[in-house]
Amino acid sequence: MSSTRLLSVILNDGHFMPMLGFGTSAPRKVAMSNVEEAVQVAIDVGYRHIDSAYSYLNEEAIGQAIRKKIANGTVKRTDIFYTTKMWGTFSRPELVQRGLELSLQKLQLSYVNLYLVHYPVSLQPGEEFIPMDSQGKIIFDTVDLCSMWEAMEKCKDAGLARSIGVSNFNRRQLEMILNKPGLRYKPVCNQVECHPYLNQSKLLEYCKSKDIVMTGYAALGSDPGKEWVKKDNPVLLEDPVLNAIAEKHRRTPAQVALRYQLQRGVVVLAKSFTEKRIKENFQVFDFQLTPEDMKTIDGLNKDMSYFENIL
Ligand code: NAP
Repeated sequence: MSSTRLLSVILNDGHFMPMLGFGTSAPRKVAMSNVEEAVQVAIDVGYRHIDSAYSYLNEEAIGQAIRKKIANGTVKRTDIFYTTKMWGTFSRPELVQRGLELSLQKLQLSYVNLYLVHYPVSLQPGEEFIPMDSQGKIIFDTVDLCSMWEAMEKCKDAGLARSIGVSNFNRRQLEMILNKPGLRYKPVCNQVECHPYLNQSKLLEYCKSKDIVMTGYAALGSDPGKEWVKKDNPVLLEDPVLNAIAEKHRRTPAQVALRYQLQRGVVVLAKSFTEKRIKENFQVFDFQLTPEDMKTIDGLNKDMSYFENIL
């Protein structure tokens, strides 16, 4: 068994997903050359799970980085677990596959490992990411989640996505899919905001009971420089409790925040485009938090999200 396999979880459709993923969403001003460089560094460091989305507008650079690392023999395509996400303007059943094909064209890959419904929200189809009316109000679309999910299932049948899942779904929305008559494939995962200040313990328990993996984003507290991230929230990595636990283990608060998720069975994403931190965030498999540490970090929860609820 390869080392990547050892650090993976088995999804409910039998595929493996590495427990630590490399996040790639960055403020719009970040140059694509930085994205490409960061993904290459991440692959060199050992990350095999890369998370992106159609809406991050960076899939050309990521595809380029992955293909370079395949061409120079660092990895094979089968070593990489790549996730993309369906943006709301592609929610209509006849557009769901088109959204994925556009990502694949940019990536110049023949399949993704995971295609996620980015939000349980559909938007008016068209060129605009966030279609707005003349009053500045978002123009939503009315697409039934279940018929959209059937179109997701077809993407898996077509071999364009090895696995399919959802993101930003609450329990009620997950239930709508799980209870759909004629369901052929359950979502393999639900990717949601998850960190010590928003630990999602109830949703995690529910997902585990349904054999759905929870993947956590903003595990390090995200970046207030990003669109949709609140600017005045407390900084997670400056939390005194997290820092005290980090000091005790001679680790950094970021490593403790990532390790916390791994130990509770959450697949965790970490974004950094800085070489030192890309490496630091990968060093989370050689130490353990005690049950007391875990309980203490659980106690930091205040159901506080970094992301604005825009959609
Ligand atoms: P994050 O991973 O919690 O944090 C990223 C920020 O932390 C960056 O500013 C980064 O700066 C900094 N950082 C990284 N490592 C650090 C360390 N060791 N010490 C100190 N600072 C560190 O936030 P995120 O990017 O919002 O979330 C992670 C990924 O989840 C995203 O990139 C994306 O792939 C995914 N995501 C998904 C959704 C969704 O709706 N499904 C939403 C948001 C995010 P540097 O880059 O300068 O190191």
